[in-house]
Amino acid sequence: MSFIDRHLGPRESDRDFMLKTVGFETLDELVDTVVPDSIRLEDDLDLPAPLSESEAQAKLAEYAAQNTVMNQMIGAGYYDSITPAVIRRNILENPGWYTSYTPYQPEISQGRLEALLNFQNVVMELTGLEIANASLLDESTAVAEAAVMMHRANKKVKNGFFAIDSRCLPQTLSVVRGRAEALGIDFVVTDFADGLPEGDLYGVVLSYPAHDGEIRDIKPLIDQAHERNALVTVAADLLALTLLKSPGELGADVAVGNTQRFGLPLWYGGPHAAYMAVHKGMERNLPGRLVGVSTDTAGKPAYRLALQTREQHIRREKATSNICTAQALLAIAAGAYAVYHGPEGLRAIANRLHDNAARVAAAGVEAGLKLVHQNFFDTVAFDTEGKADQLVAAALKAGINIRKINDDRISISVGESHGDDVLAALVEALGGELGETDEYGIAEEFLRTDEFMQHPVFHTYRSETAMMRYLRRLSDKDLALDRTMIPLGSCTMKLNAAAEMEPISWPEFATIHPLAPADQAKGWKALIDELSTWLVAITGYDAISLQPNSGASGEYAGLRAIRAYHKANGDDQRTVVLIPMSAHGTNAASAALAGLSVAGVATAEDGSIDVDDLKLKIEKYGDTVAGIMITYPSTHGVFEEQVVEVCQLVHDAGGQVYVDGANLNAQMGLAQPGKFGGDVSHLNLHKTFSIPHGGGGPGVGPVAVRQHLEKYLPGNGYEADAEGKLAKAPLPISQAMFGSAGVLPISWMYIAMTGAEGLKSSSEYAILNANYIAHELNELFPVLYTGDHGLVAHECILDLRQLTAESGVTAEDVCKRLIDFGFHAPTLAFPVPGTLMVEPTESENLEELDRFIEAMRTIHAEIKEVSAGTVALEESVLRNAPHTADVLTADTWNRPYTRAQAAYPVSALRLAKYFPSVGRIDGAGGDRHLVCECPPLEAFDLEAK
Ligand SMILES: *Cc1c(COP(=O)(O)O)cnc(C)c1O
Repeated sequence: MSFIDRHLGPRESDRDFMLKTVGFETLDELVDTVVPDSIRLEDDLDLPAPLSESEAQAKLAEYAAQNTVMNQMIGAGYYDSITPAVIRRNILENPGWYTSYTPYQPEISQGRLEALLNFQNVVMELTGLEIANASLLDESTAVAEAAVMMHRANKKVKNGFFAIDSRCLPQTLSVVRGRAEALGIDFVVTDFADGLPEGDLYGVVLSYPAHDGEIRDIKPLIDQAHERNALVTVAADLLALTLLKSPGELGADVAVGNTQRFGLPLWYGGPHAAYMAVHKGMERNLPGRLVGVSTDTAGKPAYRLALQTREQHIRREKATSNICTAQALLAIAAGAYAVYHGPEGLRAIANRLHDNAARVAAAGVEAGLKLVHQNFFDTVAFDTEGKADQLVAAALKAGINIRKINDDRISISVGESHGDDVLAALVEALGGELGETDEYGIAEEFLRTDEFMQHPVFHTYRSETAMMRYLRRLSDKDLALDRTMIPLGSCTMKLNAAAEMEPISWPEFATIHPLAPADQAKGWKALIDELSTWLVAITGYDAISLQPNSGASGEYAGLRAIRAYHKANGDDQRTVVLIPMSAHGTNAASAALAGLSVAGVATAEDGSIDVDDLKLKIEKYGDTVAGIMITYPSTHGVFEEQVVEVCQLVHDAGGQVYVDGANLNAQMGLAQPGKFGGDVSHLNLHKTFSIPHGGGGPGVGPVAVRQHLEKYLPGNGYEADAEGKLAKAPLPISQAMFGSAGVLPISWMYIAMTGAEGLKSSSEYAILNANYIAHELNELFPVLYTGDHGLVAHECILDLRQLTAESGVTAEDVCKRLIDFGFHAPTLAFPVPGTLMVEPTESENLEELDRFIEAMRTIHAEIKEVSAGTVALEESVLRNAPHTADVLTADTWNRPYTRAQAAYPVSALRLAKYFPSVGRIDGAGGDRHLVCECPPLEAFDLEAK
């Protein structure tokens, strides 16, 4: 059987049955009816013939073999670390973890929420600040977020500038420069040798330790900043903080950084979880997701995402940031690393790294090199009297990459896996000899003396058995794709095939440093070039950048390209983006981040863009129109006939067309945004191209453009010098040149194994599955929007508003009741409040679709009992869903429905049943009393109620 036959859910006979059900003879007929002729692709995609799983892996192995595995001591934000096998196998390689969705349905997400809370706790404790979020995309963007956040949060200095440490990572300076320029925020880059710069300073960013390894006394700068009412962000290395005084103790307001060295592979630059922690009082300004503790209906502690009102789904262009997909899976792994090692284990690792760095320092000095800084953690810098190239070459010969800072200066970052053999070889390359030393301790004044990570979770799981079972216990609480369809509209939760996943663990991909010499990363280049070519062929654009590490960062990159294009044409005034009301919240938030303002375009009765309103808006904004952002097929799940006209209108007005490509799953092989009118699109490889969602990341959001925008694609992060000057435009938008490179083999495998025919089948079956569900449920839950022919694209919106009006049962009640059936809910209230958006994807088989349909029909009957007045809403099985085993087995039962009705509403559940670990969670209460740290064990009252 070919791969595509495994990737698609329905068997041939099922397909024919489903086609007949929706009224068609053949798939072609259905697809010809659904997809408008005006956008239809004539030819097959130009892609190589599909390979089998083993053939594709063999070809990929050839690329892997072109990479050179070395001992990585380059540092600069990426450090050699050891992924404990128990974490690799039980989290990173475990579909129970990697196929889960962002925990917006907290009752079925308690495991990953606890794991993320652990991550937050580690960050809070090590940074010494009170609130930490559940990950950001990378350290460079985290610093940029902090710079913008301080601007927003500083109520005393409103129109000032910020000052950033010239010894932040070079790539951070480039990313920050781009963000600040887009927003028109002034800043200076300085080494603070003469203290803080004069003027209206609203914020300061300090690095700790500096990128060249130095640990400085930053306390006086922090105090001076506060005297001038400026806020202070410290970019800190979390592992160093196990030894050093925390930013919180030193008085910082914000701490940011990366957690890659908490057990994550280098992966040629990503994905890794960045972190941000803030003082209490700043939490409403915090970007990214935040896990908080609330209670369920039985009064037990329960985890949930807190303060979602900050997010772009609600606040749109006024959101705290555009980040939607972040780095959940990597944060979970980093948190687990801390759980497994505990505070004493982390400190031991840190001490060993420091001791080894000190031995390198001593040997280097012996060999006649000049040690640049006396106080360092794991990174030693030497001045070499112009011998930098020579020493880098010598180390290379010994199988070791070290960093050249300039012709004179090198630095060496010692990693977790570097034993004495590696250190001896390194030191020999420097001309010295490895010995012991106690000469280079970190000065007493810098050392932390407080305890951290005292919660039992960081002390209980030391044996591998205990750890394995803890991870299993957590994932057992969750629903991921390994147990149920996740029919989330707009999220495309399709198969993440095992053969696609395996290669990311191969050392030839996992251990390559993003700053390694190009000839060591030839395999990565071959893979990236080929994947880029394929994605260009699929989308019909001319060029692509794989740098954005989420869909939203793809949007930001694309909008920046549009802005740069207008500027180059002398159209500085083109700063208004037209965005339909139904657009994903990230569209507006990204526009704001790119320094553009947002004008809404109305939605017509049938869900399409209101062309008359568009014309009005174009007239109103005239030559200030920068462009339009449309989603195609629209977020309403329909291929709009007039898309070509919409693009034409905007082009005629001098604007550019941004096609949000998150819904490309309905188009692959059928239509191309680059051909029907788009100038730029981002794709979501973590939706359409099989990268798993990871509980909220990682993501890859490539930005594809037509020729005229190619020169504005995000550039190389390493062209800026250490002072951040001389950066060649365009600036990078992510820390690593290829963003989340480490997960690109997944999408490569998917395309290599499906080919043109298979991609087209993916689209066609996605359309078939969605139409089958729409057809089967339409009578009970009216499908809100369809094309003229009564069909949908790859998803459908079920309208519950009439049912809610007559019964009081809400769409949310239905989501919670679906949990009792073992289902993950569809997308709730987006893009239309009071509705559910269902996207089954091509990977679900007929049995699973029917199981969902049966569940929804059963729920409909339950709703009708409420409408009829037979059952009171508050007492209904719907309002009291989901039902925990605890509630179901309690000695008292005084509900108007039976226990069996609650737990086994359909008989098949007796064969396989999921019990949520908590009942319905009080969201608002959790926001009123915000708690974002692991609750003490006593909080879990174990007596039955
Ligand atoms: C998912 C999605 C996005 C955002 O993608 P992230 O990777 O979560 O940032 C943008 N637009 C649409 C239509 C989407 O569905």
